[in-house]
Amino acid sequence: MTGSNKGIGYAIVRGLCKQFKGDVVLTARNEDLGKKAVQSLNEEGLSPKFHQLDITDQASIGRFGDFIKNTYGGIDVLVNNAGIAYKNDSTAPFGEQAEVTIKTNYFGTLAISNALFPLLRPHARVVNVSSMSSSFAIRKCSPEIQAKFMNPNITEEELTHLLNDFIQAAKNGDHEKKGYPNSAYGMSKVGVTVLSQIQHRQLSADPREDIILNACCPGYVDTDMSSHKGPKTIDEGADTPIYLALLPEGVKTPAGDFVAGRKAHKWNEYQYTP
Ligand code: NAP
Repeated sequence: MTGSNKGIGYAIVRGLCKQFKGDVVLTARNEDLGKKAVQSLNEEGLSPKFHQLDITDQASIGRFGDFIKNTYGGIDVLVNNAGIAYKNDSTAPFGEQAEVTIKTNYFGTLAISNALFPLLRPHARVVNVSSMSSSFAIRKCSPEIQAKFMNPNITEEELTHLLNDFIQAAKNGDHEKKGYPNSAYGMSKVGVTVLSQIQHRQLSADPREDIILNACCPGYVDTDMSSHKGPKTIDEGADTPIYLALLPEGVKTPAGDFVAGRKAHKWNEYQYTP
């Protein structure tokens, strides 16, 4: 579980501790915050393990990968939940917001996936926590840009190139002229949703049996990220990610889907209803 010292990630750990037959590792980039989170789950009678993990730090990713390999030899469930969002009233330049947000939400998710996918066991489940913001953002792209992101054969290199192009345009101040929307977070989550489809294709072709990856939207949730404006509790937000993390062996769907409210949706057409 990435980014699980608070918010939806914390609630996913809580739910998995109750339902998953095996160790659940709560990770946090800040060790003190992570250990405090473990302590508060201990007070509920739950016993997650802890390991430090910053998904933007290659050394931290390496240490976490070694810990998993040496302690468990493999991994049954990976939930890529860690993410950031600038506040709407942030005064940081838009180019900086684009670069920093995509560095964590897209490049961080890609980096931890690349490190841990070799450790996935047969029947493993991977859940990428994306957002309805990816649906809003893709619809605001020009038809030309939409077509590039929606190409069913898009490669990881092409996706990375497109997101870097968005960052460069955001820095130059001409991203809207080039057909991109004015949302750094939205574009970072377009990255996560499209990356999930690419990763699904890769894992479907993998010789290891029955590994399923889905992207999801947790809904609009009462967390620090939403400035506590979301109506859902963190446990309600954790429901779909936990459902996907625990998909039973041999299920055929959802797989490679964008899932919200436990249902698969066409991500570019998805309309969020609370
Ligand atoms: P949150 O309360 O702000 O929690 C985000 C978590 O990610 C925190 O634990 C944070 O750690 C961690 N994190 C950030 N950068 C990290 C990094 N580089 N390495 C490791 N961990 C990192 O937000 P949330 O609302 O629970 O969001 C969880 C996920 O749901 C995110 O992917 C978000 O985009 C998505 N989402 C949320 C909503 C919503 O309404 N809240 C809606 C749609 C999607 P720190 O405590 O150190 O910052």
